[in-house]
Amino acid sequence: MKNILFLASPGAGKGTQSEILAKNFNLIHLSSGHLLRNEVEANTELGREVKNIMANGLLVADEIIIKLIKIQINENPNTNGFIFDGFPRTARQAAALDEILAEHNCPLNLVIILEITDEEIMKRLLKRAEIEGRHDDDGEVIKARISIYKQQTQPLIDYYNGQGKTAIIDGAQEIETVAYEINNLISKL
Ligand code: AMP
Repeated sequence: MKNILFLASPGAGKGTQSEILAKNFNLIHLSSGHLLRNEVEANTELGREVKNIMANGLLVADEIIIKLIKIQINENPNTNGFIFDGFPRTARQAAALDEILAEHNCPLNLVIILEITDEEIMKRLLKRAEIEGRHDDDGEVIKARISIYKQQTQPLIDYYNGQGKTAIIDGAQEIETVAYEINNLISKL
């Protein structure tokens, strides 16, 4: 089983690269943002609870997202592995993920950090707003999301460096180049 985690700012290309990787290596792409957006669209109780938080670019409570991810992991015991995209975003989530994966005897194999500048992120997310019309791809909300990433999620790089699992890739390169470099890394696992 191969478990891969993307750690990068919103707009760095986690979603795009996760999709490519999921196809190439037959892995399950677990996008926390996608799981939450599904709840909002289906207008479930949970969806109603997180809708405004998401629209403002804030993080939903750790317990909520940990529970959603845990269900997905437990429901797919025979998979080749998971790609975690957008989760974990806090120290508590990272610790929870390690615990859940330890219960399944399949720890994270690799943490891919996609490096990219704030200017490039802003440019990409504003463009995505035009194409996909996501409510949280708006100028001020993007700034909030970048700032929360720096405060809460970026410190996880040290956590995973401590586990010796990180690899850095230049996320500003063409999609195909990034995918090629990631493929090389995974093939060596
Ligand atoms: P994303 O599609 O990953 O950018 O996520 C969209 C929004 O969903 C975020 O801005 C948060 O409001 C929420 N979200 C997604 N993943 C998480 C997470 N791991 N922890 C807390 N909130 C999350």
